[in-house]
This record gives sequence, C-alpha cells and structure tokens, in this order.
Amino acid sequence: MKAIVVRELGPPEVMQLEEVSDPFPGDGEVRIRVRAAGVNPVDTYIRAGTSATKPKLPYTPGGDVAGVVDLVGGGVTRVKKGDRVYAYSVAGGYAELVVCPQAVVVPLPDLISVQQGAAIGVPYATAWRALFGRAQAHAGEVVLIHGASGGVGTAAVQIARAHGLTVIATAGTAAGLRLIGELGAQHALNHHEAGYLQQIPGFTSGRGVDVVLEMLANVNLDHDLDVLAQRGRIVIIGNRGRVEIDPRKAMTKDAAILGMLVFNASPEELRDIHERLAPDLKAGLLTPVIGKELPLGEAAKSHVAVLEPGALGKIVLIP
Ligand code: NAP
Repeated sequence: MKAIVVRELGPPEVMQLEEVSDPFPGDGEVRIRVRAAGVNPVDTYIRAGTSATKPKLPYTPGGDVAGVVDLVGGGVTRVKKGDRVYAYSVAGGYAELVVCPQAVVVPLPDLISVQQGAAIGVPYATAWRALFGRAQAHAGEVVLIHGASGGVGTAAVQIARAHGLTVIATAGTAAGLRLIGELGAQHALNHHEAGYLQQIPGFTSGRGVDVVLEMLANVNLDHDLDVLAQRGRIVIIGNRGRVEIDPRKAMTKDAAILGMLVFNASPEELRDIHERLAPDLKAGLLTPVIGKELPLGEAAKSHVAVLEPGALGKIVLIP
C-alpha cells in the first residue's frame, strides 16, 4: 500500500509518499481501507518535533480516518467487512490501509460522507469534552467560541446549538464569518477587528458569556476575562505562546480558567463521547464541514495549510 512515511522530524517535506507493506489485523483489530484522513494541527506539532509526543521513527502520521472495513481479526464483533466507519486515535492514518483496535472504530451514519467521517475524531471529541466535560455547559447558557471557523470551532458551534446554548462565534475572514452564521451561531464577530468583543454585552443584556471555548489563549485570555459573566468558565483548547493576564478579573467573577487536552481522556471517556455524538450525527444535527480535500501525496501542503489563517472547517487527505 501507499503511505506517508516520516524518517526524521522536521518541516512538512519530511513527509514522503512511499510504498510499504500492507498491515494485517490481529485479534480484536480491524483493517480499514482509508477513504479520507483528517489533518489536525497536532499532526504538524508531532511531525515538527515540537510536541511532547515523540514518535518512534520512521512513522506514519494521522489519528483520524474514515473508510470501509476491509479485514477483521479474531473476536471482532463491533463491525464487519464492508461497513462504512470512522476511527479515532489510530496510528498511521495517512495511508491507504490502517489497522486499529475495534474499540476506536465507529459505524458511519448514512448521512455522513467519508470525508466528514475523517473530521469527527479529534475535533468533535475536543469540542464535546471542552463544553460538557470541562465547562459543564448546559442548555440556556451563552458560549463564546473564540475561533469558530476551523475543525474544532465548527464542531463546537454545531454541538452547542444542538444542545440548546446560545452561540457567539468568531472568525477572521468574511468566508469564515459566513460559515459560522450558516452553522447556526446567533452572533458572528471578526477576531481581527478592533474592539470586536465590546459587542458582547449588547448580545447578553450586559451579563457576559457563561463559557468561552478558546482556540488562541496567548492572544485572547485576558480579554476573555473581560466578557465573562459571573461564575463563567474559560476552557483553553488552543495556545501558541505566553500571555499576561490580570488575575483580579478572574477573582471578582469567581471565574474558572480550565485547561483541556483531549489526549488526556481515557479510552472509556472517549468511547462515551463518541457514543453521545452518535445520535446527533445520525439525526443530521452534526454535519462536519470540509474546507479542503488534498490527495495523500500532498500531505506536506496540508500541513502548511492547516496552520494558515482563513480556516473553513476541516482539511482532509484522500488516499
Ligand atoms: P484550525 O482548523 O486550524 O482552526 C484554527 C482556528 O483558530 C480558526 O477558527 C481561526 O480563525 C482561529 N483563530 C485565528 N486567529 C484567532 C484569534 N486571534 N482569536 C481566536 N481565534 C483565532 O484548528 P483546529 O483544529 O480548530 O484547532 C484549533 C486550536 O486548538 C489549534 O491550536 C489546535 O492545536 C488546538 N487543539 C487543541 C486540542 C486539545 O485537546 N486541547 C484539540 C484539537 C485542537 P480564522 O482562520 O478564521 O482566523
């Protein structure tokens, strides 16, 4: 089969398309013919060597895939050959075939394409865990999704709307703002416009927001504290540097600043999250947004694109 192989950590070009031997499933494992692989920012951090996770070289990147079950090992009961599925937390998803434990393989509802299936793993679990696991958000609350046009943000807008929250969402381009409006955000703000957060009191009768899902904490954290309601919660999902904050703002509001890393979730917690996502995916309440499809051989281009401004949902690779 063809797969992206990384022989040394470094710039995007270290990812090369190679012919490698086909993997075979052992007991309890499933082989998926990959039709689409999700590109997550974390894939770029691992490839560049800046992540705490250091892969054993050579390795094939990619944790999120969707496709068709092509072989099953002994004792597999969750899926069978020919099933359309997505899988999360796999190793080596940027490939024509991937083998993974049956526990991380989930049937794909008819409404969801394989490209959309590859956009579920990290983004939807991240958004769900931030909103409900960490922030304990509930229907009737107001959430600011600070960076809503990308993989995690679009998922968060859909999940929050499906569960009865009011959504204020931000993007940095006209196309991004249009997209988050189409996804159901009641208010869309451009995070590059001066003073954009000053509109939030007007949207919330002066209360502020109950929850912030923050995609770029090093830029926004101190300002998030300004727009938070009493007892508000900020969940740090994305961060690319250091930031100075005024802790008094947190003190006076009984505010909570919460870190969240989806990879800290146990296998049981992740399985529970995907089980909870399933009815909403099946009902068409969650429809992953695909911004760009690239051939597997252009993995290097996808790693450049995923870090560029102007996100519009998810980037996927097509083997
Ligand atoms: P993505 O698809 O590349 O989207 C990035 C988002 O950040 C876009 O919506 C972008 O908006 C927005 N952004 C850019 N400048 C911003 C600003 N000044 N303020 C607020 N938002 C801004 O990436 P993703 O997959 O959604 O991931 C988002 C971040 O979360 C990344 O840093 C990623 O590494 C991290 N992440 C963390 C976890 C975790 O477990 N904690 C899991 C997944 C991802 P425009 O492009 O429209 O400007």
